[in-house]
Amino acid sequence: MAMRYVMKFGGTSVANGGYVRIAEILEKFRPEHELVVVVSAIKGVTDRLLEVTKVAEKGDEEGVNDFIIWMKELHREEAKKAIGSLPLELDEALSRADKELEHVLYGILHLREATPRSVDYVASFGERYSALILSAVLNARGLKSKPFTGGEAGITTDDAYGEASPLMAVTEARVRERILPLLERGYIPVIGGFAGMTQSGITTTLGRGGSDYTATILGVTLPADEVWIWSDVNGMMTADPKIVPSAMTIPELTFEEALEMSAFGAKALHPRALEPVYERGLPVRIKNTFNPEHPGTLITSRPKVKFPSVVKAVSLIRDVGMITVSGASMVGKPGTAARIFSTLAKAGINIMMISQSISESNVSMVIKRANLERAYSALEVEMLGRIVKDIEMEDDVSVVAAVGEGMKGTPGVAARMFRAVADEGVNIRMIAQGSSELNVSFVVKEEDGEKAVRAVHREFIERAFGK
Ligand code: ASP
Ligand code: MG
Repeated sequence: MAMRYVMKFGGTSVANGGYVRIAEILEKFRPEHELVVVVSAIKGVTDRLLEVTKVAEKGDEEGVNDFIIWMKELHREEAKKAIGSLPLELDEALSRADKELEHVLYGILHLREATPRSVDYVASFGERYSALILSAVLNARGLKSKPFTGGEAGITTDDAYGEASPLMAVTEARVRERILPLLERGYIPVIGGFAGMTQSGITTTLGRGGSDYTATILGVTLPADEVWIWSDVNGMMTADPKIVPSAMTIPELTFEEALEMSAFGAKALHPRALEPVYERGLPVRIKNTFNPEHPGTLITSRPKVKFPSVVKAVSLIRDVGMITVSGASMVGKPGTAARIFSTLAKAGINIMMISQSISESNVSMVIKRANLERAYSALEVEMLGRIVKDIEMEDDVSVVAAVGEGMKGTPGVAARMFRAVADEGVNIRMIAQGSSELNVSFVVKEEDGEKAVRAVHREFIERAFGK
């Protein structure tokens, strides 16, 4: 039986004439595989769609009109680059999308109100245009294809606009009903990523970067044999090559490691994208559209080749801040941590990292820098002067996170790591290790962040590879 792949192409892959490059990749796979394709919006389009909702909300009609012209021209130019003259069907479908986009933006303009629901609808248009174009490009090259929005393909979600979650049972039934017959007839369905639809047919989005999530949802519901995420890097790297020039591709990762890395902001994957595939052990490959021969990274339950270093990846998390709550009367008082965390939860602030000294007299937390002031005032109102004596905040820190399953049960990893960092003269402010031992994270001054990443990378990865 032919292997069935879901292949997702990201925003940089479709930009600047990218549709042709994608078609060439698909042509290579098509003879031996069933293919379901997911596309992102052209790079930058989703950002601009979100911006224009604010422009419209301000009542800036000229700004809205300029945007609509820009959007139309961009997509028509890209389509022409890929096909030459536009086929009638594509021209009509694009015009329908133009019209609908114009209508919703004018709605916002007149109401001067952009609700989360209308923002999601607007944001979904980048993927809609993109799917229309890629599908037409494939048809023009003699591959049979049909375009879908996420909702049309069957991706059904709750109504948490901006960050909707799929309703898997309904999604599965709909996706199978709509997509499987096409595969049987030799079609390549091209599905716009990122967006879904509620049960009553209202457009939603799965959160920024959500096209990866679309791909893995489709992967498990169809089901597919593998999900391939095509972007503009050679897979997941041991570090950001901008910080560590000798960073290299990690050939294989376990789901746990990849989850850990995406939680730390590895841009290669949407943080929730691995949820559906993890349970079923459905392999995910990260590939480079601009270097398709490169094997990339395979995320799998059972890696075949042992990686020579216990640390597989080191990341730097910027734009964070640290809050430390302290007070002698916190010691031995059950419920203090719970109060701190529920205060922040009530304020809608996510805690990224926690550590409490064994003396229990202080608790430190890392949160997004943008939330720092808000977290401070929430804690101040709720707790200061009672059990808590002091609240301190620091806005000039970064987190360094090392990930690797090999750290589990290997003594001395932390010692080596912190020695390497100390040898660079970098002071460590806070440390946390998940009890899974899959990662060790620590906080340093922002200005030391890159230095610390390089030190850890050198100590573990470069050394293991004899560099
Ligand atoms: N276009 C969406 C975004 O920019 C989704 C994606 O590209 O994955 O967030
Ligand atoms: Mg992405």
